[in-house]
Amino acid sequence: MLADVHFSDPILQKVQDPLLEAKGISLKMLRLDLVHPLVSGNKWFKLKHNLAEAHEQGYQAVLSYGGAYSNHLVALAAAAKLSGLRSIGVIRGELVEPLNPALAFMRAQGMELHPVSRSDYRLKEEASSKAALQAQYGPVFDIPEGGGNRLGLLGSAEISSFIKFSRSAVAGYVMLACGTAATMAGILTSLQGAARVLGVSVLKGADTLSPQIRQWLVEQGQNAPCAWEILRDYHCGGYAKATPQLRQRMHTFTQMSGIALEPVYTAKMIYALYDLAEQGYFPKGSEIIAIHTGGLVAM
Ligand SMILES: *Cc1c(COP(=O)(O)O)cnc(C)c1O
Repeated sequence: MLADVHFSDPILQKVQDPLLEAKGISLKMLRLDLVHPLVSGNKWFKLKHNLAEAHEQGYQAVLSYGGAYSNHLVALAAAAKLSGLRSIGVIRGELVEPLNPALAFMRAQGMELHPVSRSDYRLKEEASSKAALQAQYGPVFDIPEGGGNRLGLLGSAEISSFIKFSRSAVAGYVMLACGTAATMAGILTSLQGAARVLGVSVLKGADTLSPQIRQWLVEQGQNAPCAWEILRDYHCGGYAKATPQLRQRMHTFTQMSGIALEPVYTAKMIYALYDLAEQGYFPKGSEIIAIHTGGLVAM
């Protein structure tokens, strides 16, 4: 049972970088990546209430969707195994053997991999697609791609309780990498105080993220949370694309702090943070809490 598995509370780790300190900026990392060795980062928060609900409703299997490198499916595979649930992963595109590390991890955790063509994947929310999956796998608790449903937002909202600014901070900023932005929306529903939340889109042309966040907030009955913004200029070429500058920043940061990042999400957040700092975006006396959303489990 999942209730018996130990998850640690994430720590707020001070990062001492002379470069930031010279600008009067203090940085802390919220280490969601350390909550569990296999179910890591923001994914655990988005999944926990979904898995509890699946149990509650008597389901023995959970099913969700993602690409061949989906951290969401990696986390779901491990979390389902820990909670004694069968799991099915609907994968966009073909399964190429040997499997990449993410898919190999999913399979090793016992997830049944169900590849579908890209065109079928686009139809995954159609009732007929869902009915076909139920016919093949039996009753399954269906979790949307990325875990961005009401229960996923509810879990993400819990992240806010670990965001604590020093009393001496002149201005507070929260930064995190965004894919679907469900994690950010959850945080916005519950964050107290006057912090400004900056979500770094890892996708190119992420025009839908801000409207999607607004819609989620309305659905949660939250119209006026703290100030927030999606930063759209740090995708470095698009999803899973990287530039030499991004890799350089990632290595410099890891060497300085000892904190490992990956290039798809967390490195882009750190890249944006340093770029803004260099531009003088953060006033002297600012405190930034950067959320380490994980992503290092099956690389
Ligand atoms: C999935 C993921 C994100 C994006 O989370 P969203 O809720 O989809 O915005 C950010 N960082 C890492 C490491 C992830 O795996």
